[in-house]
Amino acid sequence: MTIDQFNFAGKKVFVRVDFNVPLDENFNITDDNRMRAALPTLKKILADGGSVIIGSHLGRPKGPADKFSLKHILKHLSDLLGVEVQFANDCMGEEAAVKAAALQPGEVLLLENLRFYAEEEGKPRGLAEDATDEEKAAAKKAVKESQKEFTKKLASYADCYVNDAFGTAHRAHASTALIAKYFDKDHKMFGYLMEKEVKAVDKVLNDIKRPFTAIMGGSKVSSKIEIIENLLSKVDSLIIAGGMTYTFTKAMGGKIGISICEDDKLDLALDLVKKAKEKGVNLVLTVDAKIADSFSNDANTKFCPVDEIPDGWEGLDIGPKTEEIFADVIKKSKTILWNGPTGVFEFDNFTHGSRAVGKAIVEATKNGAFSLVGGGDSVACVNKFGLASGVSYVSTGGGALLEAIEGKILPGIAAINE
Ligand code: AMP
Repeated sequence: MTIDQFNFAGKKVFVRVDFNVPLDENFNITDDNRMRAALPTLKKILADGGSVIIGSHLGRPKGPADKFSLKHILKHLSDLLGVEVQFANDCMGEEAAVKAAALQPGEVLLLENLRFYAEEEGKPRGLAEDATDEEKAAAKKAVKESQKEFTKKLASYADCYVNDAFGTAHRAHASTALIAKYFDKDHKMFGYLMEKEVKAVDKVLNDIKRPFTAIMGGSKVSSKIEIIENLLSKVDSLIIAGGMTYTFTKAMGGKIGISICEDDKLDLALDLVKKAKEKGVNLVLTVDAKIADSFSNDANTKFCPVDEIPDGWEGLDIGPKTEEIFADVIKKSKTILWNGPTGVFEFDNFTHGSRAVGKAIVEATKNGAFSLVGGGDSVACVNKFGLASGVSYVSTGGGALLEAIEGKILPGIAAINE
């Protein structure tokens, strides 16, 4: 079932959203993008004449805590929806059930933070540090048992289940995956945001228009190994940038000064180079770097070949030659995936490379390429540089997107498709 096909008139709908928004010390929302991203789904249900029960998590509470209460976002949600949203102080208690049962078409109920209950994640809490393996196993078994009741109760509030929380799609939690089994195929579906995310991932993993270029940046190769391995059997070109560059350079015998490097991953880097060759992938590595004499925006800087970095200096961004090489490959591509900055983009003096990559992606997109940016800091990059509207899709999912491009099946997606 798709959300567009379904008429929600007279139905109560449990919508799992990701309203895990950042709050300042006075509980003001500092970035409401995640809330805005769910509005099309919520508005469609209300416009059809359905009523909505919203479930979300906020932060990582270890139990009920005012700091993590979703009541802090209630007013803003009401403003965004143009509807006075009701609130249940506890997602499980009598109050939630009564309020859900009394909902009329066009009304909205926000449940308190689902993670106030350990059952949401299905992980035991409060175990003593010196707990034995047996005690740990027993606690795990107990929480898995009570998780069934918890999930069933959440499901009992509604006639339909809509998952619009891509940010948690890689977690098999009660409200993101397990709840789906209480609804038949015709009464569970993705929200619009999930639909867009799933389609975007499909375009870079399955429905590929060639040439396909992936740009992998960020700090460490160790956190990207599985992605790189999965992409090697899909891409035509793989651009390696960011901090992980120096592990490759050192592995190939270059001098990297004090650049960030994972010495225990040198063999792995060489192995990835070998695999790329075997698979006929054009592996595009950095040739020159913008180097600094300290890890600071105000450091002295100069450009040099990436394998001739003097002692005491470190590479904090790519150099102009590399920018040109990367841009050339990117502009010829028809499918582009960008994950991770080319340098320490948080320092204004080391943003040039990431900006150049972003601009090349925008140009390729203008020429008909499909471009997906996601998985953490590259999203911050395109936003910082004002380039977000020029790419095809900016993912809202950090870890979820990374796991999807690692080739893993996401429980939140599987639960709807089953
Ligand atoms: P990741 O979370 O793995 O995508 O890494 C993003 C982080 O990598 C950002 O905070 C960047 O500042 C950092 N980064 C990128 N290039 C470098 C570099 N050459 N040296 C140190 N950190 C870097």
